[in-house]
Amino acid sequence: MTYSYTQISHYLTCPRRYRHRYLDGWLEKDSRAAMLFGRAFEKALAAYFLREDPGASLFREWTECQNQSLRYSNGDSWDRMLQQGIILLDRFCQEDRIRIRQPRRNLQIKFSRPLLPGKNEFVAYVDAIGKLDDTPCLIEWKTTSSRYSEEPDGLLALDPQLVCYSWMTGISEVAQVVFVRKRLVEIQYLHTTITDEQRQEFGQLVKDTIRRIESAEFLPHSGIRFPQNPCSTCPYLGLCLAKRQLVETALIRRPGAEGLGWLDELAY
Ligand code: SF4
Repeated sequence: MTYSYTQISHYLTCPRRYRHRYLDGWLEKDSRAAMLFGRAFEKALAAYFLREDPGASLFREWTECQNQSLRYSNGDSWDRMLQQGIILLDRFCQEDRIRIRQPRRNLQIKFSRPLLPGKNEFVAYVDAIGKLDDTPCLIEWKTTSSRYSEEPDGLLALDPQLVCYSWMTGISEVAQVVFVRKRLVEIQYLHTTITDEQRQEFGQLVKDTIRRIESAEFLPHSGIRFPQNPCSTCPYLGLCLAKRQLVETALIRRPGAEGLGWLDELAY
């Protein structure tokens, strides 16, 4: 069986959600504008490092999504997102703080790692390996509509995805480049160091989570976030409440999908 960060993160968010998604094959419909825009934007970044026209790439990729019935949030629209994306790309090129050597090798890099007792492996796709302001590091791109919190100092080192990728690659210097689509767009260049101890702990967490998955422990457990109930924003709510209309609005069924969960890494 092949595992990925997204699978482990789904299980830790709510084991029942994992079962809906990875065992029963229910997928969230691919209509979230923000997610599709993020994919188009990452392709535009790749175009930039490959010395192609990033703006033309963004326009082409985002136009392909235009006729899908997209779900927008925060007052977004197709035109507005495109405009923000173009401004962000311009700013990114002008600031010139990221360097990627040999971009064909160092963008969207696949790492795999065998897991004991030998029947499982863990797969990760890292966005880039390069330099931020001359510091060699592993880099993740993020597109978002609000800035990432930078306080208190050191917060980024607790980001589980960065810890996971550091564990997978053995690279301790990690960075997130956050493209913030707000009224006045902004790019955050966040950098931190992941320790050996964090990497070891993450390896233990992966082992323990896989043991629970393989023991079929899928009790619903969405966590407590008073006064909000995390179930209210969960795409699988319709299944847990047995409400067909909610299921049909949010999900599609992909039977026999239990071996393909790692492909999610390409979509987030
Ligand atoms: S609706 Fe709640 S209990 Fe059901 S899968 Fe989602 S988070 Fe878990």
